[in-house]
Amino acid sequence: MSDTWLVFVPEDPRALPAPDAIARALDLLKQLAPDADEVAATVTDDVRFHDCGENWSGVTCPRCAADIEDWWFEAMDAAFRSAFADLRATTPCCRLATTLNDVTFGWPAGFGRVALAARNPGIFDTTPDQDAALDAAAGLKLRKIWRRI
Ligand SMILES: [Zn+2]
Repeated sequence: MSDTWLVFVPEDPRALPAPDAIARALDLLKQLAPDADEVAATVTDDVRFHDCGENWSGVTCPRCAADIEDWWFEAMDAAFRSAFADLRATTPCCRLATTLNDVTFGWPAGFGRVALAARNPGIFDTTPDQDAALDAAAGLKLRKIWRRI
């Protein structure tokens, strides 16, 4: 059996909404995915990477669109050793100063200290209006990640 997760993390990897904001966003996510097996928030002291599982579709440069997947994985290894405390990176193709979170993921993935996740949410997708409502509830811009494992 494979599982599908609908995960929301802040666009800013270090951002941490207040507990009541997390609770509001979680309540809303439960309403949007009432048939989910489980809806929960995970908060961690360190920054974690939230991948998209089998949906993974590589990494390209946000400026010149070069395939930088191999470089990104090497940079990830180095960043992991510092618990993702510093995600700054310069792309090898056109020397763009960016971060490991701001490259172009073929399928969205991202870093965060908090993740709101619905396991097997039972919906095809959330709408842009629903995404905006989640942003408002959390009090910051969220990134949506569909993970298939
Ligand atoms: Zn480039």
